Amino acid sequence: MVDSGRTPALFVDRDGTLMVDLHYLAEADRLEIYRGVTEALSLARAHGLRLVCVTNQSGIERGLVTDEDVRRIHARLNERLRPHGAEIDAFYYCPHLPERGCRCRKPGTELFERARRDLNLDIARSAIVGDRWLDIEAGRRLGIPTALVPPPGHEAEIEAELRAHGAMPDIRARTFRAAVLRLLARG
Ligand SMILES: [Mg+2]
Ligand SMILES: [Zn+2]
Repeated sequence: MVDSGRTPALFVDRDGTLMVDLHYLAEADRLEIYRGVTEALSLARAHGLRLVCVTNQSGIERGLVTDEDVRRIHARLNERLRPHGAEIDAFYYCPHLPERGCRCRKPGTELFERARRDLNLDIARSAIVGDRWLDIEAGRRLGIPTALVPPPGHEAEIEAELRAHGAMPDIRARTFRAAVLRLLARG
């Protein structure tokens, strides 16, 4: 069998997962990466996973955030991660309002499919970490392991949301780092 050269990815949500969710953040100066995230991303990278961030940014269509703001935040995030070997390989975002019913907003899988084509990813060997039901549901639709990391203080509300949508993560962890370690241990 010829090796296809396809690489697995660690798909990560952005707000509430990599960084504190500041609700329609427009200023890159305010971004706050959670403790342990940088280390965990660099570990995943060292394990040969591509790092792909897929994020819903409806603040764009709401007129609260611009495409340029979002791109600036992603650039700033990578400026912080790069010195630690934890750079995100690619960011994908949906700018639409939920009611538009687009296919790129999570739990839709269109952005993941785009990443697969752009980066020649092996989706079947990939995994996803997120803080909400939509991340878990996107992972279920892709058929990959899912890890939930609820932001501190929001556990009950996140669990209620999961139940309401019938979403069931494979892994529940208290920190992003713990989630990544457990996903890597699954092989
Ligand atoms: Mg989130
Ligand atoms: Zn969309």
